[in-house]
Amino acid sequence: MKVYGPYTRKDGRQMVVLYDGEHTITMSYPKFLVEEKLGRILSDTETIDHLNGDFTDNDFENIRIVERAEHAKDDVIRIAGATLTCQWCDTVFECSGKSVHDRSRGKAGPFCGKSCSGKYGASLQRGKVEKMPPQHHDKVYYKNKTSLNLEPVLRKIDSGDGDIGETFDNGNAEGTSKEERRRD
Ligand SMILES: [Zn+2]
Repeated sequence: MKVYGPYTRKDGRQMVVLYDGEHTITMSYPKFLVEEKLGRILSDTETIDHLNGDFTDNDFENIRIVERAEHAKDDVIRIAGATLTCQWCDTVFECSGKSVHDRSRGKAGPFCGKSCSGKYGASLQRGKVEKMPPQHHDKVYYKNKTSLNLEPVLRKIDSGDGDIGETFDNGNAEGTSKEERRRD
């Protein structure tokens, strides 16, 4: 079995290509690392989760396995709330993680509630106020989940047996695969 990569896809995901002399399989690099480490194939419902939100940070400290159904939910819960100042009434208020998540899309505000955002909206419509520039709030992730806590670097990567670390041509990678496994 030869392993080519990892190479980075256009969406930023890292992939490896496995070749057994007959078939090529493209798969997620972090998933490959975990499967190698655990010595088993992950099931259809198991997904790889990067605790700090950076899916190129494949340190095992940063990786855990979650059931697919729980994954989306966690992504929201894990974002830390923030203390913000209402841009209409200057009230300092606590913003939930979910709201911080929504706010990161660059809306006006923040506002302490519907009342203030409503007043802003109405005043804007009547031309009484200038449109506020969108504000960006960095998402701060909780790191309160337990990682796999495996060794930071995989044996195969370390050993330098020549199969891993070869340069892979990103441009042609996807077209060459006969079988693809893309669950992540
Ligand atoms: Zn307010």
